[in-house]
Amino acid sequence: MTGAPDIRALVRALDGIALALDLPTRRRKSRDFFWYSPILRERLDAACADLIASPADTGEVRRVLSACAALGVPVTARGAGTGNYGQATPLAGGLVLDMTGLTGIEWLQDGVVRVRAGTNILALADQLRGEGAELRLYPSTKRTATIGGLVCGGAGSASWGMLWEAGNIVAIDLLTMEPEPRPVTLRGERCRLASRCFGTTGIVTAVELPVQPLVAWRDVVAAFDTLAAAARFGRAFTAAQGIGKALCSVSEAAIVPYLEPLQGRVAAGDAAALLMMAPHSMDATADLVRRHDGRIASDEDALDNERDPERTPLYEMSYNHTTRNVLKRDRGRSITGPARPRRRHVRPHR
Ligand SMILES: Cc1cc2nc3c(=O)[nH]c(=O)nc-3n(C[C@H](O)[C@H](O)[C@H](O)COP(=O)(O)OP(=O)(O)OC[C@H]3O[C@@H](n4cnc5c(N)ncnc54)[C@H](O)[C@@H]3O)c2cc1C
Repeated sequence: MTGAPDIRALVRALDGIALALDLPTRRRKSRDFFWYSPILRERLDAACADLIASPADTGEVRRVLSACAALGVPVTARGAGTGNYGQATPLAGGLVLDMTGLTGIEWLQDGVVRVRAGTNILALADQLRGEGAELRLYPSTKRTATIGGLVCGGAGSASWGMLWEAGNIVAIDLLTMEPEPRPVTLRGERCRLASRCFGTTGIVTAVELPVQPLVAWRDVVAAFDTLAAAARFGRAFTAAQGIGKALCSVSEAAIVPYLEPLQGRVAAGDAAALLMMAPHSMDATADLVRRHDGRIASDEDALDNERDPERTPLYEMSYNHTTRNVLKRDRGRSITGPARPRRRHVRPHR
């Protein structure tokens, strides 16, 4: 299809579906966390959708895809917009499909949960906890991200490998982007056709994921004299199959001062390993820390850290939350490079 898409015709076709055409909403929903990268910030800052659609159910998603396919309007799917690299940014304008209206668990049985794509991961975890179960892996953006965004754009874990590895996703339901969208259910290794494909192969409406019995995770910090010792420990810890673990994130001494909650726990100049572990693995882990010339700096209840607004769960000091913590304290300056001029940018809203 050539020429600019007919957005007015699209709006008419989508009558009854929640749409936003105002500029502030379109700007806000056209951004993810690409601005962490100065290069992407330059390239993507101006990208903006022509409209935002927020379907309430699969039927409305189908109508949106059908109309967009018929009118040649590009569609960019969006969960919570916490991706880091512009994956939820509408590079060619068109429609941003806000999936956060499709929420809720459909069923939980035999160690598998079936959940709608727009469900917030923390809300999902809360519901599962009520059933004595939990997700096997989740991102450090657990409190904000959607489960569909994780499946379509997320990565891995300390215990279960990468998300797209065998057994980590049971099934994915998606709709194709065609004038007559087709429902497709992917199972087994075919899940790779949608997992970490960033919505390019279809719009995911629901996923089935394995769950495990609830664990009373501990947030444990270990300190080491050198980064090499911390890294060697981290390798041994993640390789120890008998240790129940959900996180192992090693930070060099230069990063530790940026992780505000660690102040007073990890001495200046020490590297740190941030761990989530099952209570039964505490002794084995303490032995492993000692064998790598380290020491346990703190041991706290992970759920308390997640729930108490005054505290920070260790997972929010890992993965790309490390970047976030550094930027919060040190905006405009590279830790490894020379000072850079301060530059105004638009903060993404959630
Ligand atoms: C501070 C910070 C820390 C992070 N830590 C982690 C981490 O620990 N582990 C990790 O894996 N990632 C991490 N990320 C990246 C990101 O948060 C995760 O990938 C998250 O799961 C994305 O969820 P979301 O709902 O925000 O998805 P979005 O950012 O909205 O979307 C992600 C991608 O999936 C597509 N998409 C979203 N929903 C659908 C759908 N229903 N159907 C089809 N396509 C869809 C989007 O188009 C986009 O390409 C981090 C990001 C930040 C900013």
